[in-house]
Amino acid sequence: MRMANAAGANDIAEFVRDYVERNRRAIALVGDNVFYFGELGMQEFETMGLLTGVLEQGGFKVERGIAGLPTGFCATFGEGGPVVALHTEYDAVPDNSQVSGVTRQQSIVEGAPGHCEGHNVNAAVLVGAAMASAAAMKRHGLKGTLKVFGGPAEEQLIGRPYMVRDGWFDDVDVAFHDHISSDYEAGYGIIQSALISAKFTFHGESAHAGTAPWKGRDALDAVVLMDGGMAQYREHMAPSSRMQRSFPEAGDQPNVTARIASAWWYFRDADAEGARKLFEQAQKIARGAAMMTDTQVETEILAAVWPLRGNRTLADLVWRHIESVGMPAWSEEEQAFARELQANSGAKAEGLRTRVARPAGEAKQRWSANDAGDVSWKTPMCKFYYPAMVPNLAAHHWAAGAPLATSIAHKAAAAAARILAGAALECFLDPALVAQARRTFEDELGGAAYRSLLPPEQKPPVDLNRRTMEIFRPMMAAHYLKDKPVFV
Ligand SMILES: [Zn+2]
Repeated sequence: MRMANAAGANDIAEFVRDYVERNRRAIALVGDNVFYFGELGMQEFETMGLLTGVLEQGGFKVERGIAGLPTGFCATFGEGGPVVALHTEYDAVPDNSQVSGVTRQQSIVEGAPGHCEGHNVNAAVLVGAAMASAAAMKRHGLKGTLKVFGGPAEEQLIGRPYMVRDGWFDDVDVAFHDHISSDYEAGYGIIQSALISAKFTFHGESAHAGTAPWKGRDALDAVVLMDGGMAQYREHMAPSSRMQRSFPEAGDQPNVTARIASAWWYFRDADAEGARKLFEQAQKIARGAAMMTDTQVETEILAAVWPLRGNRTLADLVWRHIESVGMPAWSEEEQAFARELQANSGAKAEGLRTRVARPAGEAKQRWSANDAGDVSWKTPMCKFYYPAMVPNLAAHHWAAGAPLATSIAHKAAAAAARILAGAALECFLDPALVAQARRTFEDELGGAAYRSLLPPEQKPPVDLNRRTMEIFRPMMAAHYLKDKPVFV
């Protein structure tokens, strides 16, 4: 059956290769522009503007602000079935402003947000693959719909669960998610963890802490007591559980009893049930802390995701394209840069990977979570990792930011765009493959019913990170690139 399409498949592969080759600079410029925007989750306005502008020029019909997410979008090309989705994230990380192309810590703007996980390159791969796919669909008259989703605030796990809950993936047959790494990967099975992000805000009453402390009801005391309770509970939680917190509001001055104080928690576990159990225990502890301090507690779920899973049929498909495109050919200069960066950040100095290595068997579950998890329970999905990162460096560290607007990122993004477009186009060319992915997906779910962990009335936190961006954006804007991507 594949034979009937063999000539078509070769023509399309050649077309995609030429398209990406011709647009190498445009793809690189998408990633580099987004690198300098360095926008935190829910505030990716410049980024979304750039990406959707390019997609519109490529003939996509763009809907912005979907699912109550001002910086989320869906761009559609073509019509009818099958419906193939490409999606990724493009947010930066707080206090991670790093000059690209140097091997020492050096901020672009001191204290500002920056890309230190490579979501800027994710955006370049997404747009490069989408533009190449649309051009190939047009040229070769392929039937079907390509949907490109931009997901805001991945670092806070916000975007895609809202899109899934609100039905944006209901008609999607298969989906692909691209994410940076230091290797190629396209695993099947459970790849990442479940996570619930929740904020506990305590409300008390202020007082002069020196002259009349007995008049106050201290919200900060409640946060401290909750934290003590959580620390005790750690001893009794399952080995698969993890939880971390920060204190967004913790009082202003010692002489004013805190009227409002809050704790923001991430609850992680191997499955959604485990994350829910942690959250439920935390709610009891928070109520106890409120009772002890005579304060009131208000709980808000900011985000909740299922553990990301990979579909085997799509993993096999993507691996075929990885093997046909291969590793980028790194120059000696790029290898030397990588080794020096590794050495300077205390990592093993072994340079960039030069060989494609396909792991045997199912993926190993990671502790990280990604808000694309919910998509992967709704529709067969492949999470495709590509090698634009220098190996052995930890994301969210300055060193991980250093290669993100260099030729290393540019070469890997071009290769990844070719792979992703190749895999997506094969779904249009061979609808039987899509049907097979749907069948293996049903087997993999084994009857497990997905339901959103988000309360139905929950709205995305649109003000998240707004103040930080208002402070830093004017200083960061001085470094924006003048060159914009133009695809031909
Ligand atoms: Zn990421």
